[in-house]
Amino acid sequence: MKIKDKTFTPLLPAEEIAAKVNTLARQINKDYKGTKPLFIAILNGSFIFAADLLKEIDLECEVSFVKLSSYSEMTSSGTVKELIGINENIFNRDVIIIEDIVDTGNTMRVVLDEFRDRGVKSVEIVSLLVKPEALVNSIDIKYVGFEIPNKFVVGYGLDYDGFGRNTKAIYQIKA
Ligand code: 5GP
Repeated sequence: MKIKDKTFTPLLPAEEIAAKVNTLARQINKDYKGTKPLFIAILNGSFIFAADLLKEIDLECEVSFVKLSSYSEMTSSGTVKELIGINENIFNRDVIIIEDIVDTGNTMRVVLDEFRDRGVKSVEIVSLLVKPEALVNSIDIKYVGFEIPNKFVVGYGLDYDGFGRNTKAIYQIKA
């Protein structure tokens, strides 16, 4: 697959992603049984993962979306901009953050700190993808879909310079 000047090759097929999303949802359903969690999806990249995951969640829950953008083209800038869109009172709530990919962990560090400052009862992360080699922050990610190599990926919500979000599979950049 070609997007702009880059070529991408298949990494995770649609069926494998779907099976993993199911597994993650089942785990969350079990762990949060009897609670009323608040899911907060981090836009834009997590929109497809969040939709697929939430369809399998059978808890009485709320869903919200926040946005922050620190990622410019292919390198993380390391600085996280403002977190916009938390309208819910998250004090004393069980929050589950839905993220597409954790790379350096800078984004999650900031989000976790902000939520803890606001007095959440608990906060956990579900991330479809994690790049363990890129992690510079020690972050506890309770629900991990796939650990992947430290290579740029697109598809299933993830973009390259705005393009490539609308695929069922995930692709990685050709070296
Ligand atoms: P971090 O703050 O952990 O370094 O980066 C997290 C954010 O960077 C993700 O939410 C995602 O938006 C973006 N990101 C990190 N790695 C990739 C990648 O391989 N592909 C794409 N499309 N985005 C990425």
